[in-house]
Amino acid sequence: MEIIPIALYDEVIMKKAHPCKHRTNRFQIVRVGADVKIRCLGCGNVMMLDRDAFNHKIKKVVAHHENLLELSDD
Ligand SMILES: [Zn+2]
Repeated sequence: MEIIPIALYDEVIMKKAHPCKHRTNRFQIVRVGADVKIRCLGCGNVMMLDRDAFNHKIKKVVAHHENLLELSDD
């Protein structure tokens, strides 16, 4: 399996949308370690995934950022 390199605050597209009302699959990485924490850019909830699960669920990195993004308003 291809491992996609990631860094803190990268904006990523996951294969599945977050099951919140925003239904977005855009997340931002807020912690990188043995576990990866991603924050839904719709509702702001944070999910923790182990590295393996994360690698299965990520689709791609879309942008690198230097800090936390504002949540989308829709
Ligand atoms: Zn959400």
